[in-house]
Amino acid sequence: TCTLASVRGMSLTATVERTKSQKTPTTQLYVNGEFFESQTKQWFELRNPATQELVTLVPQATPEELKHASRTAEEAFKTWKQSSVLTRQRIMMNLQLLIRDNMDELAKSITTEQGKTFPDAKGDVLRGLQVVENACGIPSLLMGEKLPVARDMDTFTIREPLGVVAGIAPFNFPAMIPLWMFPLAIATGNTCLIKPSERDPGAMMILAKLAEEAGVPKGVLNVVHGGVDTVNFLCDDPAIRAISFVGSDRAGKYIFSRGTANGKRVQANLGAKNHGVIMPDANKNHTLNQLLGAAFGAAGQRCMALSTVVFVGKAREWLPELVERAKTLKVTGGFEEGADLGPLITPQAKERCEELIQSGIDEGATLLLDGRNPQVPEKYKAGNFVGPTILGDVKPTMRCYTEEIFGPVLVCLSADTLDDAIKMVNRNPYGNGTAIFTNSGAIARKFTEEIDVGQVGVNVPIPVPLPMFSFTGSRGSIQGDLNFYGKSGIQFYTSTKTVTQLWRHEDATELEAAVNMPT
Ligand code: NAD
Repeated sequence: TCTLASVRGMSLTATVERTKSQKTPTTQLYVNGEFFESQTKQWFELRNPATQELVTLVPQATPEELKHASRTAEEAFKTWKQSSVLTRQRIMMNLQLLIRDNMDELAKSITTEQGKTFPDAKGDVLRGLQVVENACGIPSLLMGEKLPVARDMDTFTIREPLGVVAGIAPFNFPAMIPLWMFPLAIATGNTCLIKPSERDPGAMMILAKLAEEAGVPKGVLNVVHGGVDTVNFLCDDPAIRAISFVGSDRAGKYIFSRGTANGKRVQANLGAKNHGVIMPDANKNHTLNQLLGAAFGAAGQRCMALSTVVFVGKAREWLPELVERAKTLKVTGGFEEGADLGPLITPQAKERCEELIQSGIDEGATLLLDGRNPQVPEKYKAGNFVGPTILGDVKPTMRCYTEEIFGPVLVCLSADTLDDAIKMVNRNPYGNGTAIFTNSGAIARKFTEEIDVGQVGVNVPIPVPLPMFSFTGSRGSIQGDLNFYGKSGIQFYTSTKTVTQLWRHEDATELEAAVNMPT
């Protein structure tokens, strides 16, 4: 007997009231170095997307618990900000080793809660781990600048932590995206509250345990759970100085405006519709294989998935071969040997994906490969599976093109020239990632120069930058000016103090006070 509670604005997950007799495992809160059960009555049911088995109940933390987490982080900041940068470096070194050692446990949690295949889940962990590895260089990354500016006078800059910062993560990378957030926040001397997605917080709970083992002191890293109520708290609580958000447009725009209206620094990475532009001179075999991996990997639930392809000129003749290759991908539970695509995150996500496929057909697209109702083993019959789907003859006005599908659906368009393809990509409201496939340096150069997209690949389908660079974005895919990780990430988590100091060698020689600006 579950009573649905209203969760304002949240369409995909609802909370249930938990009765005392239920023995279902719960996800704990982590505050001040303690893992404990929430006193809430509102819980999110987390079901294995491949089977619908109930995995855990995730709490909507109570206002008191959220306040406790924020106060704890505020208190911990007083000492953490004074910790030496070498201490913080050493903790990052310990953490990277522990994450590597526990990769299988992390990946297992991801496959169980999120659904992606086990090898892909390890990739999720690895790409986050690389941010921790980069944070091991925090002494160099934090170095300021210094210049002698006049006789006996120097100006220098110091990067100081902000205080308490918050991270709000999406469901699709349960390890990587929290790892974009808390390691840099902590390494730069902040304390933080992380709110993982209520749909798959398990990996973040393991990371919290590992962070504690690595030497992160009590109260420096805290994990809070919930939906809109928790988000609202993080946007409004005066102790929180900055919010790092990754997720959908709707939540991101809301968090950006509410957070910035409260004077907080906010970085928000939003939705995407990433185009692959295929030139007829490209290496066909490489291009088709890369397209398949980038369109259908993680069942299309990557913000950098190449979900849209623009065939230029004769390259459109490759489409039948792409369809044939897509048919060979295996749709099944993420732990199964040889699985290529796991399930979508929720039944609602599956329904929405199928509805967008149908909208494409209704609007005149050609269904070249239909992934609806794929064949899966008996034990996965209740899972949220959609197989690789390819829609041809798509036009930019169709909903399957204008909306982010976030499922294994590749929409195919064509263009007569490179200029037309560039115009098409730049007209799309999103600007997260794109890739061109060509063997011409001149074409690649023109494309990279004229395209208005944050991440650009040349013969690289998913050009997610390594952490010495930053993950950026353009137009509708981003709000805020400071990007994730890399130098920009360091800037996000710090404020710059500029000191100008004068130490005279001799006694002061000024005879009288100077009231005019020096000329
Ligand atoms: P989501 O916006 O539903 O959830 C993200 C976070 O916001 C969660 O922690 C959730 O609890 C919270 N949230 C959800 N709805 C909210 C609301 N109405 N008000 C306030 N908070 C809310 O996103 P998702 O479905 O978990 O993730 C998929 C989306 O994330 C896709 O659109 C994808 O493109 C995007 N994404 C973008 C990037 C990027 O770097 N650009 C990376 C990964 C994912």
